[in-house]
Amino acid sequence: MQSSPTPSPAHSRRSVLTGLGLAAATPLALGITTRPERPSAPAAPAGPDVPAGPTVLLRGASLVLTMDPTLGSGTLGALESADVLMRGGTIAAVGTGLRPPPGARVVDVSGKLVMPGFVDTHTHLWQAVIRGGCTDGDLFGWFTRCTDPQRGRLTPQALHSFVRLAALDAVQSGVTSLVDWVDIFSYDLIESYVRALAATGVRFTYAMFPSESDPTLVAKVKKELLDPVPLADFQVATHAARAVQHLNHAHWEAAQDLGVMLNSHVLERPEQRADDPIGVLTDIGALGPRLLINHAIHLTDDEIAAVAAHDVRAAHCPLSNMRLASGIMRLTEFGRRGVKVGLGLDGGTNDSSDFHALMKTAIGLQRARATQAQVFPQVHDVLRMATLGGAEALGIADRTGSLTPGKRADVVVVDPAALNFAPRFDWVGQTVFNARPENVEAVFVDGRPLKFDGRLVGVDTQRVVREAETAATRLRAAG
Ligand SMILES: [Zn+2]
Repeated sequence: MQSSPTPSPAHSRRSVLTGLGLAAATPLALGITTRPERPSAPAAPAGPDVPAGPTVLLRGASLVLTMDPTLGSGTLGALESADVLMRGGTIAAVGTGLRPPPGARVVDVSGKLVMPGFVDTHTHLWQAVIRGGCTDGDLFGWFTRCTDPQRGRLTPQALHSFVRLAALDAVQSGVTSLVDWVDIFSYDLIESYVRALAATGVRFTYAMFPSESDPTLVAKVKKELLDPVPLADFQVATHAARAVQHLNHAHWEAAQDLGVMLNSHVLERPEQRADDPIGVLTDIGALGPRLLINHAIHLTDDEIAAVAAHDVRAAHCPLSNMRLASGIMRLTEFGRRGVKVGLGLDGGTNDSSDFHALMKTAIGLQRARATQAQVFPQVHDVLRMATLGGAEALGIADRTGSLTPGKRADVVVVDPAALNFAPRFDWVGQTVFNARPENVEAVFVDGRPLKFDGRLVGVDTQRVVREAETAATRLRAAG
């Protein structure tokens, strides 16, 4: 990445950490209620020279949901009055009465809830530019009137502002990993996109739609732009349909050559039955654990059975599906058959990065459909789906999704002492039905604090908003 579309001073991650008060020369005790000093410039992209995350002991959490049944009680591996130790970017230990290693920063999280960060399995961050737009459009109307006109006018700098804005919004909501399915963009736009994502410090997967005119670009982008970023993964994006089966086949071959997943939108609208996407994906040999299908709403019983039998992964995007009148995914059926399903915010269509609302909706839609409260998913199911389940769907559960020692430290701290959350009755239920992004007090990715004391670390939020506002105004004026 040779150039920055944003003319900002290049602060290294080390200087950001120093500004945070988490570098070596700082006091040992760092209360989570103490606001750290924040530099005004955005953080630089995480690179190979970035130091490992600081050693931090989150001490005395009232509840820790590890998502690992071997660590605590129930399917969520719950622990009362427990500590989480992060060291060198990993979860070093989880338990009660952990002793802080020499040099560790001790953060008092008594009265708080600690859990893994959310895994957003499907989004399009650049679409922040059309938030709240085309409110009476279905998927096709929204494409025609909102998405397509804006996409054609994007400049690297504008794209950078929208991706940065939306990625930071996701982080402040507790998202620590995300998959961005990205349209066909030129190299300079892709570079800008990746740079914006890398600078946020979030763990991300760039799912790239290959260019038909330059089939070599996909390998070049992976090698030059994604491989150097430690927190980045890569997928090949496609849109399965009979009319473009030759392209779908080429995309699947590219994914296999690169050793990455193929990521396709599938049957989001009933009209897309004519495209026969599951038939196409079957014919090109892509059905398997290396395939992620998004939305997957209008599948037949046989198609769901085939998806389950081949261990195909799925991303469920209930807020987007409601907004665009797309339908209701048969999530209960997917769950019954054991399909690995994660949750997705789906970019601009849901106008929000609120993962708590996403979980609530995933439950609510199935209940409304079945007129029964006991159907899958229940609160523990969506909490798992939002974290470890999403990581399993993406094949990254060896790294993230639970607080299992040895995994990367992607952790959120939630403060339930809020008007919308208290009093304690059942915090697991309250995390799904009551919590909101503003209750997310701290977010760590790879052990690094991206949000602390309720604020993004090292981010001038007003500036991020201002830049996105200016870029959006310019884009509209160009239309
Ligand atoms: Zn999508």
